[in-house]
Amino acid sequence: MIPTPPAGTVPGNASGGASADRLLLDLAVSDVRQHVYCPRIPYFRLGARLPHRYVTGAMQEGILEHQRTEALEQRRGLRAYGLSDGERSFDVRLRSERLALGGRLDMLISRSSEAIPVEFKNTRAALGLHHKYQLAAYALLAEEQLARPARRAFVYFIPLKHAQVVEITSAVRAYTKRVLNAIRASVAGEQMPDGTRILERCRVCEFLPYCNDRW
Ligand code: SF4
Repeated sequence: MIPTPPAGTVPGNASGGASADRLLLDLAVSDVRQHVYCPRIPYFRLGARLPHRYVTGAMQEGILEHQRTEALEQRRGLRAYGLSDGERSFDVRLRSERLALGGRLDMLISRSSEAIPVEFKNTRAALGLHHKYQLAAYALLAEEQLARPARRAFVYFIPLKHAQVVEITSAVRAYTKRVLNAIRASVAGEQMPDGTRILERCRVCEFLPYCNDRW
């Protein structure tokens, strides 16, 4: 089970969400994933507006593998997810005006009692916190769009042909909303956040030239 980061590691209001009289910076689910990976990455893109590579070679290969997996998934049943029923939709656009958040989800399983987001990952590496909160953001969008609860999500590991469940608890939801607030606060305040403490991420980061406190 992946732990929830301790409260207070991200600045912002725990309740999150938009109010009618505030114009919120529009964010993508990938911004949530990037912030949890390293808070500076969405800041550099959205705040400092630095140019960046949208699609690297590795990402291009990942996109192709996603497409192959989607084609296979359409023929497969729901056994990998331990489900006996559910309607699958692929490459689903999700959007919440209330949260000012949107994204494209690999697969959405719709059941009468719940919505279940699924992301395909082309890796054998253990599920990272950034992927966990990416799924949580999709869950917030899916339950609003389908008007039914999203209490769990899955990551489907393509090389392993294995699905791992992620529980969308109240703590996970609250942290996801704090991430949204933290991204917006750093952009609005022009405050560069601290970078990741995991320096190996910096070695392969396109923004390393702007992080001269790393080495
Ligand atoms: S170089 Fe490191 S600290 Fe800077 S943006 Fe990249 S991952 Fe974050």
